[in-house]
Amino acid sequence: MENFQTGHDEFKHSYFKKHEKELIELAKKGQQPKALFIGCADSRVVPNLVTQSKPGELFVLRNIGNFVPPYGLNECYNATASGIEYAVKVLKVTEIIICGHSHCGAIAHLYSHSDEKNPHIDKWLALGKSAKSMAIISQPKNIDKESLLRVTEKLSIISQLDNLLSYPCVRDLVEQDKLFLHGWYYDIENGDIDYFDPDDNIFKPLSDLE
Ligand SMILES: [Zn+2]
Repeated sequence: MENFQTGHDEFKHSYFKKHEKELIELAKKGQQPKALFIGCADSRVVPNLVTQSKPGELFVLRNIGNFVPPYGLNECYNATASGIEYAVKVLKVTEIIICGHSHCGAIAHLYSHSDEKNPHIDKWLALGKSAKSMAIISQPKNIDKESLLRVTEKLSIISQLDNLLSYPCVRDLVEQDKLFLHGWYYDIENGDIDYFDPDDNIFKPLSDLE
């Protein structure tokens, strides 16, 4: 805890002091972020750090595996679904980024064969099952495990983008060209981000995005 306490002290006396005007303005006017960022809860994936964005610029939802539950199938409390509705209908974001990443524990867990029961985790990870099936079907049988995981991580991003389109509020705006969806893949080993190009069906370096 001491690290966090010292960190906050530093934040208060350096960053906050330097950006005080903008931060007070944000408090008065409220937030108007242009983008919703759906990322993994993994501690190595830090949305504002990897995009170098400031407070007020990104509305962020993070969960295990950067998964998106399909619309309307969940009767229990659903933080991700309500966050999507809030970002689209109230904040009126114009971009949604689903950002997966390399070495994702959620994706690795899809392949683990533990008998341990974790009811909440087990139910949530079902959202990655179609990516796992697609990866196994599409790859050679002798593929090494790490390569299979990297493929599954990327296929999951595409699968979650599909789930996002099951939300009527998202689909309607996408069809009207008022909302744009993006699939990103962050490599934690080198800091690179690739984006999914649906026309060519491949991931390309984000720096090549026009
Ligand atoms: Zn992850």
